[in-house]
Amino acid sequence: MKAYPTAAEYLRHHRPERPVLALRPHALARAADWFVANFPGRVLYATKANDAPPVLAALAEAGIRAFDVASLPEMERVRQVADAELYYMNPIKSRSAIARAYGDFGVRCFAFDSHDELEKILAETNGADDLTLFLRIACPNTHSLIPLEGKYGASAEEAPALLLRARQRATRLGITFHVGSQAVVPAAFGEALTQVGQLIVSSGVLVDAVDIGGGFPARYPHSEPPGLDCYMEEIVRAADALAVKHSCELLCEPGRALVADAEAVIVRVDARRGNALYINDGAFGALFDAAFSGFRFPVRCVTPGREDLGPADRRSRFYGPPADIADYLPGPFVLPERIGEGDYLEIGQVGAYGRVLANRFNGFGAFDEIVLRDEPMLSMFGERQRDDGEDARSIRL
Ligand SMILES: *Cc1c(COP(=O)(O)O)cnc(C)c1O
Repeated sequence: MKAYPTAAEYLRHHRPERPVLALRPHALARAADWFVANFPGRVLYATKANDAPPVLAALAEAGIRAFDVASLPEMERVRQVADAELYYMNPIKSRSAIARAYGDFGVRCFAFDSHDELEKILAETNGADDLTLFLRIACPNTHSLIPLEGKYGASAEEAPALLLRARQRATRLGITFHVGSQAVVPAAFGEALTQVGQLIVSSGVLVDAVDIGGGFPARYPHSEPPGLDCYMEEIVRAADALAVKHSCELLCEPGRALVADAEAVIVRVDARRGNALYINDGAFGALFDAAFSGFRFPVRCVTPGREDLGPADRRSRFYGPPADIADYLPGPFVLPERIGEGDYLEIGQVGAYGRVLANRFNGFGAFDEIVLRDEPMLSMFGERQRDDGEDARSIRL
């Protein structure tokens, strides 16, 4: 993949027909460094947020040694770029996938949230004596912009018996939860950890690991969460209150927070009608969340020579390329009025749940790809110190 200092510099020499995914590997490295340095335990990357090989490679290079995966194809993708430990944390798995995960991919860590699933794992791993089993418990997702509640998780009534049964068969036993994606209140983690503490006390079962899942936020124009250090303080405080704190490993599974800053999509404006800009990517490309989750992404004009078109006083909305009316991105997006047909825009913060949700509807959904060396428009992480320019943390691309 070719690297350029900025999107405008790239566009000085190219007139891309397709939307362009622009990866900033230094932003990935910075996020991974931050989590590894500041989370008091093991950091897993939740592969589903972005499983592009250069993303996985950059994270592995930056010190992420374990990956949360939900399917065999995800395991294959991770294995192709990194010799990492795989955690199969999807609470519902097919029998054959469990057997292949254990036998072919060396997976030893599995999540479950019911007796049926637990028995399935035990049967398909032939009574293995090297399993780490995580009980997924249900927890409120009230502090999250994208709640995941209701699909998975054992209730407070079911959990003690499940924990007891798993304790008899697991070499290591853990509890896990997910507070919902883009959790904008740090107390989400404290409250769920308190729930874990109550479960340990009420069941009388000691656990070896607590995996606090994902949900760590990124910055967007519609969502400015507190700093991630506030989240870490809350987690440390709540974990310290657990009865098992001295013997228990803490894990987390950030997806969004590790990758959101690191990718932007460069789109071309093909028409303007009033405030509506018709662009060449949209809801069925990398911008799903702008159409279906009310997300507003940061936007700027990157046409060479037109980066400064005056005050950004116009409230724009976008339409994507397919004919479907659902491909409408209401925003509003803040852009100068003089943006028009032929202009290129950089739409930032699409690294998480962007390219992975793109499909080929109406013949669209294919991207060119480049690397950019400049800073993302928004970031949860400060400027990273580099001692020898851009190659301080060079990666294989
Ligand atoms: C999706 C998912 C994550 C990552 O969630 P983010 O909100 O992107 O951090 C982590 N763990 C599990 C089990 C998931 O399903």
